[in-house]
Amino acid sequence: MKYGFLAAVMLAASAFSVSAATPWQQVKEPVPGAAQAIGGFSNGCIIGAQPLPLKGDGYQVMRTEKRRYFGHPDLLNFIDRLTQKTQAQSLGVVLIGDMGMPAGGRFATGHASHQSGLDVDIWLQLPASRWSSAQLKSPRAIDLVSGDGKSVVESLWSAEVAELVKLAASDRDVTRLFVHPAIKQKLCQTAGTDRTWLRKVRPWFGHRAHMHVRLRCPADSLECEEQAAIPAGDGCGAELTSWLEAPAKLPNAKPKPPVIPEPPASCKALIVNNFKAK
Ligand SMILES: [Zn+2]
Repeated sequence: MKYGFLAAVMLAASAFSVSAATPWQQVKEPVPGAAQAIGGFSNGCIIGAQPLPLKGDGYQVMRTEKRRYFGHPDLLNFIDRLTQKTQAQSLGVVLIGDMGMPAGGRFATGHASHQSGLDVDIWLQLPASRWSSAQLKSPRAIDLVSGDGKSVVESLWSAEVAELVKLAASDRDVTRLFVHPAIKQKLCQTAGTDRTWLRKVRPWFGHRAHMHVRLRCPADSLECEEQAAIPAGDGCGAELTSWLEAPAKLPNAKPKPPVIPEPPASCKALIVNNFKAK
């Protein structure tokens, strides 16, 4: 039976009680093939994704029942490089949150990005010993930012977390990572003279307990859409101030539901093929 993308979306939606279901959740395994990140970080998909090994040295994967631990091989390699360094420095266990779904695409809940297999959320806490499976199932986030959003909570901040962000930002394949503006401010204050990595640390609301790390498009992913380059400099000046001066809470107006763009044609084809195979 042949039907279009919209029909596939409706079918997927009807199969779930939650109305925000997306057809991407129904793709249970990666699409076989040479790894290709397709489209944008917030509107894309991936062929040839790989699962992050759930048992790894130096890291643990949280909430594995969501099956959001897939990514481009470059993302797995980044996590491997990062956790080799954190282990060498005995920083603690790296906690891996959302990566992408088996074929990427849009999550039903949570963030809009993480769609092309090149994004990973890493928590800003480094337990000294490995968590139990119960802790990994219901992980407790540590909110590092004060209630007014202007500073970090000093009693919760640590040099190890600062080093974790620096190691990630210094990675050759990372183009940017997002943390709360107050966390960026703290990093600006404590960085010392080695500051080039700060450029990649971008302020963004949310991100009070985790950083979101994004890689560059792989050179052989011809349909991968790169973002505009980040501004020059360490980003510790006027731009950061403007974030910190913004109201911590937006006025009561209900945010409009986001307009969901049409996926790239190659991603639509993946979904249609997935349903045809059923
Ligand atoms: Zn994220």
